[in-house]
Amino acid sequence: MNQMRPLGSMPAFLDGRPKKLLIDGKWVEARSGKTFVTLNPSTGEPLDPCAEAGPEDVDLAVAAARRAFEGPWSRFTPAERQKVILRLADLIAERYDELALLDTLDMGQPISMRPFMEPLVLGIYRFCAAQALSLDGETIPNSVPGNILSYTLREPVGVVAGIIPWNGPLFGATWKVAPVLATGCTLILKPAEQASLSCLLLGQLCLEAGVPPGVINVVTGFGDTAGAALAAHMDVDKVSFTGSTETGRKIVQASAGNMKRLTMELGGKSPNIVFADADLDAAVPGAAMAAFANSGQVCSAGSRLFVQRSIYEEFTQRVADFAKSLPLGNSLDPSTVLGPLVSEEQLKRVVGYLESGRDQGALPLSGGARAIDGDLANGYFVPPTIFANVTEDMKISREEIFGPVISAIPFDNLDDVLVRANDTVFGLGSGVWTTDVRKAHKLASRIRAGSVWVNCYQAMDPAVPFGGFKMSGYGKENGKHHIQEFLNVKAVWINTD
Ligand code: ADP
Ligand code: MG
Repeated sequence: MNQMRPLGSMPAFLDGRPKKLLIDGKWVEARSGKTFVTLNPSTGEPLDPCAEAGPEDVDLAVAAARRAFEGPWSRFTPAERQKVILRLADLIAERYDELALLDTLDMGQPISMRPFMEPLVLGIYRFCAAQALSLDGETIPNSVPGNILSYTLREPVGVVAGIIPWNGPLFGATWKVAPVLATGCTLILKPAEQASLSCLLLGQLCLEAGVPPGVINVVTGFGDTAGAALAAHMDVDKVSFTGSTETGRKIVQASAGNMKRLTMELGGKSPNIVFADADLDAAVPGAAMAAFANSGQVCSAGSRLFVQRSIYEEFTQRVADFAKSLPLGNSLDPSTVLGPLVSEEQLKRVVGYLESGRDQGALPLSGGARAIDGDLANGYFVPPTIFANVTEDMKISREEIFGPVISAIPFDNLDDVLVRANDTVFGLGSGVWTTDVRKAHKLASRIRAGSVWVNCYQAMDPAVPFGGFKMSGYGKENGKHHIQEFLNVKAVWINTD
């Protein structure tokens, strides 16, 4: 990967790429002929335009997905679906340079994150490929008089809309595409308007892997038009959504018309708890990266940092020093650890939170304002910020910021911190740093969140379920539970008398 790759040297896929939607295995223009452009957030420069799908394009995509669901795809054996997924995984591996580059250009994910992202993305396809062979039901002894055999079948739910955010487009798309292919569903993938390009290349690779026309459709466009049309569509059986809690609520409401199945992976304000007995040399970078990785644009970011009072000052200062040492810059530079925020809109939101923190009396130990040194002025950069002097009624300790911002709050003991950790409308991630196994287990069982990471943070594996409690949503991604989200259970009774 060459450093600071100029915009002139786009990946092959971007050069002259048609500004089209993938519907029914063909690249077609939006009916309206409209397109929209996204910006490279590291430089503010425009990228390739995308077709802007409207409700009429969504109708075509849903109809194609329905035909595919009922057509040849429904006769693919599990082994044939597995083969397609494994072929797709191999193609993604071959073209990963381009896919990673597209996400880096489009939403500013540092190219240096590739060693974490690539194995996870490929692993999810391969895990789902394995699952395709075990969509088994049960035989259930029953007490109904006579000889009646009862068993269950697991069947694909049907046409799925996958609506994803911009904070990791290829990864977000993988969480929809892989289980859809494993279960025999079909998909209309709606990438986020801020970052759609890697999803288009992924759509192309699906075709090359032998996914039949109409099984995976990609419609680029805006949330309140294309997204809303999918959420309300009477012929979509399920929405698998990843995004903000606010938009998630709208989708739940829009889905009521035909009682869609839903998976909701929403926002968070996850507690990360550091006890005085923790291995602080591990906890300092652990707490920093729990909140700062991907510039804080991670739904399960550990943004509420609870530090035991006896080490509060020392620990927060060490996190601040670590934050200041993290290279902030153009995401294409391999030495960059933290890139820009995705857009000017997001920059304004995050800067608004920084101002609100200062206005309410919080003290930034690092960062605290937009970074505008040299070239950074053209992009949307916020340096990693840790606020001390934070109280729990402040906006910065209650609302999801989705930027590189830690609110550090002191606590006295386990019972005290447990109450505070759970005092949030969200329940996605959580962290505990301690060398005391008793504290670890107690908190692991009492924190109300879908993931508890002890002496680590944000660990993720294709086989381990991830998903929220409370207003962080419902349903799981990764693991065997992920697959079940895309299956209906049917009970069959056979009277053998
Ligand atoms: P953000 O506000 O950070 O952009 P969102 O949750 O709004 O995050 O966006 C996540 C995804 O949801 C994007 O693909 C977006 O286009 C889509 N979206 C936004 N609003 C709606 C809506 N009303 N209905 C369906 N999808 C939507
Ligand atoms: Mg939005």
